[in-house]
Amino acid sequence: MPNPFARVYKKGDPVSDPVAVLSPTPRARVQAMMEYHPPLGSRDALRLDFNENTLACSPKIRETLAHISAGDLTRYPERQPVEAIVAKYLGLATEQLSLTNGVDEAIHVLFETFLETGDELLLPVPTYTMYEVYASATDARVVAVQAADDLKFPYERLLAAITSRTKIIAIANPNSPSGSAATRAQLLEIAARAPQAVLLVDEAYFHFHGETVIDKIGVIPNLIVARTFSKAYGLAGLRLGLLAGPAELMRWIKRVLSPYSVNSLALACLPPALEDTAYLDWYVGEVLEARAEFEAALDRAGLRRWASRANFVLVEIGAQHKEFTRLMSAAGVLVRDRSSDPGCDGRVRITIGTREQMRQAAMALKETLATLRAGKEAQ
Ligand code: PMP
Repeated sequence: MPNPFARVYKKGDPVSDPVAVLSPTPRARVQAMMEYHPPLGSRDALRLDFNENTLACSPKIRETLAHISAGDLTRYPERQPVEAIVAKYLGLATEQLSLTNGVDEAIHVLFETFLETGDELLLPVPTYTMYEVYASATDARVVAVQAADDLKFPYERLLAAITSRTKIIAIANPNSPSGSAATRAQLLEIAARAPQAVLLVDEAYFHFHGETVIDKIGVIPNLIVARTFSKAYGLAGLRLGLLAGPAELMRWIKRVLSPYSVNSLALACLPPALEDTAYLDWYVGEVLEARAEFEAALDRAGLRRWASRANFVLVEIGAQHKEFTRLMSAAGVLVRDRSSDPGCDGRVRITIGTREQMRQAAMALKETLATLRAGKEAQ
């Protein structure tokens, strides 16, 4: 017998379909948000695609993790004592520093704290994708300043693009995917020319570059520096970053930041990571030597490349960039096609690992180029 209470409706019809009528819609701002899905998945190969440490973190971290008890995990993480240690290490006051769940959370929280309708986020491009992603969740407008073909920091054009509406200027230094860097003098001048804006200097790749503006925290009232433990330290999986800035600005950021976003395993590992400077120096030294060797291999192969101050190098592959990336992956070496970045068509970014790993990468590169060239001749 038919159910007399069953409603008859046409699927998808907002009037007669109760599911369609009731389904919740997200905020318009979220619907307009830029989507970003990192190409992770089956990365069981030589990982030269995400600029991570390609080897391991300090062995001291493993020891620390081994001593964490089940009982330790029952407690909420307490970040302040570790923030005090990190602040001291960097020569800062505790009020000038916040640990974050990676620099990605730092960027997200910074943008949520400062950007509102009518504001402008000034970005030299190409640059790190997440600035634009998180800006797209706010009501601010992104003002992109395109670098020239040399992909050097577009200093003069960036200065010219500052307006009274500029609220944040985000500069990755060194920048990704170009590997180029702004000078300290340039960064300090930008901060001085935009006192109404936060100058975010994202020093994710600081250890490979060696130059910082973190000593100017508190001296320059609108300067904020971000650092990550995902790169040289080899802790990308733990999600650890930090923001350093004047106490007056950090007060607002700390209000927006979740008090528990940095978990207790990450907090436990941070002090030994900072202490083991020998490991960090070894890894950075290894990468810098490997970079010089690999750049020489690129030059021998006749490929155009951009000078890099970080643990990666951007290479011109041209129209065959997709095939190149696929063939390298088939040869066991993951690299990152940056063709969709502004001004990067045909360019591929290759992370630098250890010398041994980069010798393997150079061999895969040679074979891949030979395959591509043979294919071209056969056409
Ligand atoms: N900033 C830049 C410039 C980066 O390249 C990256 C990582 N790709 C990040 C921030 C993100 O770092 P984290 O892993 O700490 O979120």
